Formats: sequence, C-alpha cells, structure tokens
Amino acid sequence: MNILIMGPAGAGKGTMSELILKEYDIPHISTGDMLRENVRNNTELGRTAKSYMEAGKLVPDDVINAMVEDRLQQPDCQKGYLLDGFPRTLVQAEAFSEIAEKIGKPVESVIALEVGFDVLTDRITGRRICPKCGAIFHIRNHAPKVEGICDECGAELQQRKDDTVEQLKVRMDEYEKSTKPVIDFYEAKGVVSHIDAGKDKSEVFADVKAALEK
Ligand code: AMP
Repeated sequence: MNILIMGPAGAGKGTMSELILKEYDIPHISTGDMLRENVRNNTELGRTAKSYMEAGKLVPDDVINAMVEDRLQQPDCQKGYLLDGFPRTLVQAEAFSEIAEKIGKPVESVIALEVGFDVLTDRITGRRICPKCGAIFHIRNHAPKVEGICDECGAELQQRKDDTVEQLKVRMDEYEKSTKPVIDFYEAKGVVSHIDAGKDKSEVFADVKAALEK
C-alpha cells in the first residue's frame, strides 16, 4: 500500500502513522524525522536544512526530492510506504509523481487530517519527543509515567525548537500556502480522504482505517 499522510503540524500525523504501521507492513517515512536525524548527525544535508527548520520554513524542494527518492529505493519499501510530511509543495508533488511512476509505486491513498488552530496550539505546545527512540508524548493528554522521561527507553524528553505558538503560526501559513495545493493535486486524482482529526485518537484512527480500506 502506498500512502501519504498529510495535515498541519500537530494534526496527529506521527500518532496516526504509528497506528497505521501496526496494521500494514510498510515503513513510515517522515521527511521531518529524516531531516532532524541529519541535523543531529551534522551531515551536509543537515547543515543545509537546519536554519530553514528552526525558522519553521520549508527546506528547498530539490534537497527534499533527492532525499525521498533515495529513501524509496531502500529494500524495506518493496511493499509500499507511508510518507509523512511529503510532498509539501506542488513542485514536490509533481516531481514525486515522476519518481513514483519510475519506481512503480504510485500514490494509492492520501489521508488528509484536518484540525482547528486551538486544538493544534494545545497539542503542539504540550508535545514532548524522545530524541533517542522517537516516541511522542503530551504533557497532559499522553503524559509519560515519570515527568520528562521516555516510557520506552528512559531518555530525557525534549520539546522541539519549532513547537511554539509563534512557529506554529508560521508553519500553518506555510501549510495553507504550499500544502493545500498538494491536496488539490491529489484530489484531482480521486485518492484523498478528508479526516476530522480533532476527535479522540481511537475515533480518528477508525476513520483512517475505513478510508484506507475503501
Ligand atoms: P515536520 O516534522 O514534518 O513538522 O517537519 C519539520 C520541518 O522540517 C518543517 O517545518 C520543514 O522545515 C522541514 N520539512 C519536513 N518535510 C519537508 C518537506 N517535504 N519539504 C520541505 N521542508 C520539510
């Protein structure tokens, strides 16, 4: 199954992706996670991406397209992929159409998660992530057993530098401007399911699953 999951920051892409993976044997490819790993490892790609990411701006399309094309050639993508955070611009979507066709993996389903600004603000400012294993927590809605410590691996949890209200506004603007046209692009292909993601996690996932099984 070849799936794209889309939605503004805090819409629950990471959380829904974890649940989708339990049902389908495909890798979760998050361009944000890949970039953050490159920043952590101080690679050339990471050094290019860092300033854009900290400002909540999009990293240039050619950098991202090459990174995704390379990742999809890995053997674990044979049964498909769950792409999270890509394509984020029309240029990326058009380039990705060619890449996906070349490697014989066209997009089959686009899950578009939709949430209002107030819910997003609460989710984003309360979000804590584990820098070691990638687990995601929330200080109220999904608190770790010990404050500030990852339940999975015991590492100290961190707040992402871009998880502030100010950065959320910038990222929402970017989303409206750059990513909505991507949804329209896939809408024209008839593969988009719009999901109300402001509800409880299990209810949202039930809707996601129904959409994927359509
Ligand atoms: P995310 O974790 O998906 O919210 O991504 C964090 C940041 O990484 C974004 O604010 C962008 O700076 C960058 N990023 C992730 N994916 C992309 C993409 N497809 N195109 C451009 N920039 C991206």
